[in-house]
Amino acid sequence: MDFDIVIVGAGLVGASFAMALRGGGLKLALVEAQAPAAVADDWDSRVYAISPGSAAFLQSMGVWKRLDRNRIGAVHEMHIHGDAASAQLRFSAYEVGVAELAAIVESRRLQSVLWQGLEFQHELELICPERCTALQLHEDAAELTLAGGRTLRARLVVAADGMHSWVREAAGIAAEVNAYGQMGLVANFACAQPHHNTAFQWFRSDGVLAYLPLPGQRMSMVWSTADAHAAELLALPAETLCARVAEAGKDALGELDLLSPALQFPLARLRAGRLAAPRIALIGDAGHVVHPLAGQGVNLGFGDARVLAGVLMQREQFRDPGEIRLLRRYERARAEDILALAWVTDGLQRLFATPGGVVAKLRNAGLNLTNALPVVKNLLIRRALG
Ligand SMILES: Cc1cc2nc3c(=O)[nH]c(=O)nc-3n(C[C@H](O)[C@H](O)[C@H](O)COP(=O)(O)OP(=O)(O)OC[C@H]3O[C@@H](n4cnc5c(N)ncnc54)[C@H](O)[C@@H]3O)c2cc1C
Repeated sequence: MDFDIVIVGAGLVGASFAMALRGGGLKLALVEAQAPAAVADDWDSRVYAISPGSAAFLQSMGVWKRLDRNRIGAVHEMHIHGDAASAQLRFSAYEVGVAELAAIVESRRLQSVLWQGLEFQHELELICPERCTALQLHEDAAELTLAGGRTLRARLVVAADGMHSWVREAAGIAAEVNAYGQMGLVANFACAQPHHNTAFQWFRSDGVLAYLPLPGQRMSMVWSTADAHAAELLALPAETLCARVAEAGKDALGELDLLSPALQFPLARLRAGRLAAPRIALIGDAGHVVHPLAGQGVNLGFGDARVLAGVLMQREQFRDPGEIRLLRRYERARAEDILALAWVTDGLQRLFATPGGVVAKLRNAGLNLTNALPVVKNLLIRRALG
């Protein structure tokens, strides 16, 4: 056998999974289609709200401490507004007794630190740039053929190749996919007023707008909005876009100045029928994609990586890592978190996408009611903290 495990996809989830297996005596290969973009001084438009649970996972592998603290935004408060002026929900790190509710981290920098770690992992072969062209599943092994002609035999193939997972398709695992008909528009801004480490979110009739605090007087925007509206916003000159974003965010941070060009990402939800099949496991977006309104997609993927690595590292010494009973243990352990998050993000998205009337009154009353109930608030926030 060439390898115990071949991981396909070295995005944040695949790379963190490979690192979590370090020192486990498993022979690993990691196949990635393209090396990550180089780190630059400008502010990356693509940022992630990393939960304290995910930060602890990254810390356990020595990744977190290698990130530049001056480039990480801390979220101490969250202010969530409904589409009626009075409806709001507030969370504070102080109230729940944690240092911060989330950390805002640039994608390129996190990816780069993860890759640096992979280079020092002796039992790992990083194969990049390379693509897979064929997958054959046998009783005792999986065989992956690469575009360059090489064939890799492994006990287990882990799909970490994102939403359009080639491995998931090649293994014949069905997935339910629904496009939201929305784009996630992202951009960074300098703001005239300090954000005081507060993340803001507005559920608006034209979508969900979030301001995430970056260090200094800067913020990162994610505006999930209908395709046509996103196209209109993208086509605006920088000054007009800044004015529109400031107005949509009720001038919470005063005048805005664009720091990085706006980018858009199509939004969809996806749920694979299974996370485990003989000789195959799915992690990250290959197994589930949720709406970014809760900023939890990659956190859910880090959860998969941590749990699957735990199951594999703790197995009895000579047990086959591709054994289906072992993989089912991983699948069962992740089911509740994935279902709960998919349900909440999808439910909220639909609730606020329904125009006017009784539904509008109920959803805004719901925000205020949740805000007034410390027990419910604490339950919600504990879950989001991971
Ligand atoms: C606008 C927006 C904002 C978001 N904000 C947040 C947030 O604040 N917090 C959060 O937790 N989540 C957030 N998410 C979700 C998050 O981006 C994803 O959940 C996360 O990036 C998934 O990581 P992944 O490693 O599973 O997949 P990917 O990032 O898609 O990585 C897959 C990797 O596999 C490689 N690959 C693909 N096919 C092949 C192949 N055939 N062979 C070899 N390699 C292959 C790709 O090159 C890539 O490197 C957001 C999403 C969007 C759209």
